[in-house]
Amino acid sequence: MTTTPSTAALTATIDLGAIAHNVGVLRASSGTDVIAVVKADAYGHGAVEVARAALGAGAAELGVAHITEALALRRAGIDAHITSWLHAPSADFAGAVAAGIDIAVSSPRQLDAVVAAARSSGVTATVTVKVDTGLNRSGVAVDEWDSMAVALAKARAEESITMRAAMTHLVRGDEPDHPLNSRQADRLDAAAADLARLGTAPQVVHLANSPAALVRPDLARDLVRPGIALYGRSPLPDRGDFGLIPAMTLTGEISLVKRVTKGQGVSYSHTWTAPHDTVVAVIPAGYADGIPRTMSGRFEVLVNGRRFPAIGRVCMDQFVIDLGPEGGGVAEGDLAELFGRGDRGGVTAADWADATGTIDYEILSAVRGRTARRYVGGSGEQPHG
Ligand SMILES: *Cc1c(COP(=O)(O)O)cnc(C)c1O
Repeated sequence: MTTTPSTAALTATIDLGAIAHNVGVLRASSGTDVIAVVKADAYGHGAVEVARAALGAGAAELGVAHITEALALRRAGIDAHITSWLHAPSADFAGAVAAGIDIAVSSPRQLDAVVAAARSSGVTATVTVKVDTGLNRSGVAVDEWDSMAVALAKARAEESITMRAAMTHLVRGDEPDHPLNSRQADRLDAAAADLARLGTAPQVVHLANSPAALVRPDLARDLVRPGIALYGRSPLPDRGDFGLIPAMTLTGEISLVKRVTKGQGVSYSHTWTAPHDTVVAVIPAGYADGIPRTMSGRFEVLVNGRRFPAIGRVCMDQFVIDLGPEGGGVAEGDLAELFGRGDRGGVTAADWADATGTIDYEILSAVRGRTARRYVGGSGEQPHG
């Protein structure tokens, strides 16, 4: 994606003021410091810009999945604490050690690789241990925990590593009152106690993702690790929006307005046929840009304050809306809001998720292709673009 929007047909406007506001909401609800999770290019919002805005608003640290993501933030001049927690054996551990990235390790093999990188560079690696407390995905497996704890203590004793944190990830974060959440916290506390007994206590412990950060302050420990709430989407829509502000608004420029007569079909396979003479408009955004094809004919967009239905297939590059017999006063060049805050009659990323049987995480992080990003609301700057 590009950040020079002037000639782009499709624009994701990112409100950095909303990001800053949401950091404040999360700090208040959790009563502790925030690791802003900016993996996957900040859920499609742009990792560097979001990281700067979140840190500027008081986020203490950053979290990403891959080392490549952490190194990209460093290259952009961001010197905050960054934890990276998902590694393939080919990952650039040496680069991460050299850049001072906190490497969360999930196995003795990963720890060995980090220790080797630290030894060969002569730099002490900063390490977090990712403990599997039930998710059975990443994290140190239960049967490897004892040997892992001993290996961590040994690596620390020989000063190959600094033991920064113990972390885990919740299985049922989106069911915040499920008893498994507290059990996972207990298991993490026990792991941290094991490390302390071996003389290698972690400096901090963290497990809470967005829903826990909002409604389970008792799970907060030293830091919380929210992602989706940072972007203003409620992880618990049944409980409200928690005062979060959605940061992304996706808009497309109407590229063509034309008449279609009764009985004519629109878009591939003519899955929609005009029930009467009408006016349609083409929006140059398709599944290659993150508009799910499965949403064909099942969503509405907002143009000049009015909603119009999408009709026919969503194609790779474009889809069509029905403006009605009078054309709805819509002209080529007008902007269609595809999703946004949902506060002026438009729809949200959550509505798209509901329409396609997924979650808004997937909708936001799928925005891509030819979409330009435009940033507004940054501290001290005028909205631009
Ligand atoms: C993605 C991720 C998060 C953030 O989760 P949200 O549900 O978006 O708040 C936190 N921790 C880990 C380990 C993650 O992978």
